[in-house]
Amino acid sequence: MANSAESCNKTVAVEVASITEDFSYVPSVEMQNLWNKIHDQMRDEFGEAVYRSWLKPLTLQAFYHGTLEVSVPTRFIRDWIQTHYAEGILKMCKAVSSEIQRIEYVVVQTSFFAQSENEEESSHHTSTVKEAKASPDKGPFAELFSKLDPRFTFDSFVVGESNALACAAARRVAESASVPFNPLYIYGGVGLGKTHLMHAIAWEIQRREPEKTVLYLSAEKFMYQFVKALRSQDTMNFKDFFRSVDVLIMDDIQFIAGKESTQEEFFHTFNALIDNNKQIIISADRAPSDISGLDERLRSRLAWGLVADVQPSTYELRLGILMKKRELMEANVPQAVLEFLALKIVSNIRELEGALTRLVAHADVCGKEVTLETAQNVLHDLLRSHDQRITIDEIQRKVTEHFSLKMNDMYSARRSRNVARPRQIAMYLAKQLTQRSLPEIGRKFGGRDHTTVMHAVRKIEELIDHDESVSQDVEIIRRTLKG
Ligand code: ADP
Ligand code: MG
Repeated sequence: MANSAESCNKTVAVEVASITEDFSYVPSVEMQNLWNKIHDQMRDEFGEAVYRSWLKPLTLQAFYHGTLEVSVPTRFIRDWIQTHYAEGILKMCKAVSSEIQRIEYVVVQTSFFAQSENEEESSHHTSTVKEAKASPDKGPFAELFSKLDPRFTFDSFVVGESNALACAAARRVAESASVPFNPLYIYGGVGLGKTHLMHAIAWEIQRREPEKTVLYLSAEKFMYQFVKALRSQDTMNFKDFFRSVDVLIMDDIQFIAGKESTQEEFFHTFNALIDNNKQIIISADRAPSDISGLDERLRSRLAWGLVADVQPSTYELRLGILMKKRELMEANVPQAVLEFLALKIVSNIRELEGALTRLVAHADVCGKEVTLETAQNVLHDLLRSHDQRITIDEIQRKVTEHFSLKMNDMYSARRSRNVARPRQIAMYLAKQLTQRSLPEIGRKFGGRDHTTVMHAVRKIEELIDHDESVSQDVEIIRRTLKG
């Protein structure tokens, strides 16, 4: 083991570096406390109904250079907040801390509610979650256990043609006394219910066999903890810990593609658990064979058990999910509205749910009934924002075309003005026209630091005011992007 660790020392260093970068803007405890205060204020200021419908999910993600980065679960919520509450919220923030100058709302697509809802659950309610938590002491690695979303159970999962296999396999794994197949590998596109199924498995196993240690975590978290262990030279405990769990559920494994030392570690953990007949469940956005940057041995081992895909939903499934959701929300929504939504929003179920939530909240706030007409209006905004979505890739392409550069110039380290300036313009436009955070934008530009992006944004803002040719270039590119 010492050998294999040594042989990949180099990759480790690279990963440590990128991790440092990624987590350097994690907000301090003080900032988190301030943010909790803001939550109380938002509830007071905007009222309980508004707070619950829109503001409660806001989660502090990062704080850097006066910018508070806050996540929202869907674009609908973000847009609504931006037009209705953003100004008020910023005022409150500025009042509690002069350090805060602006707020960025970023849509975080991962199972967001897993955190916020459950926190409330564990502090206010006692029943289900407490019971499930009566599992063995999780020790120093307690923080590895991601919270499970209380809504993500088998009961609330609607089965249709597109997810029947994955759901049946998940149930088998959760309900069998033995290990039916190992690993269970579930894959499919974004927002199709993979995380929901994984939480459902975890809940079910904990309910049936509370003495078992069930570890659910994302591959990203695995890597983060691994790198942390490497840094503190505590890999032995890390290894022991992972080898001691009874069930390992790892979400979004595609994340470790290309991260060689993390993969290596995962591979050993994986083998050790399988050898000890411990159940492993894995999700990814692609089939094992389609994930590039995955070690060949790991790839073949991943496909050893049962590989089940979740396909894009059908109309019937979408309608079924909406009906279920309506029931859970105890909302009064006409069937025709659900049919309309199921017909129009086909891309992913998270958006579908978001649309329903938005409609209901909208009606709630206005004190009106949900009708087909309000649905059409609300959806009109949504479909429009779909059309207008601009990607960083597109921006890079248009900028390189405009300046007759090569795409590679967007990622390269070249610093000559004729390349660096257009690159800065592209970063600026990415900031203006997409909802990506600074670190995300940095990654898209050859893995640059978020401070570099910020510098570019400031620079171009300044030039737009003082340099006509720059402001014209920016305007032309902006128009071609929007046209
Ligand atoms: P993924 O992990 O595949 O990106 P999630 O599991 O996070 O997707 O699902 C996104 C949202 O859609 C969640 O709120 C989930 O509860 C809901 N969802 C997805 N599929 C179903 C389903 N078949 N029944 C009920 N809800 C579903
Ligand atoms: Mg997921």
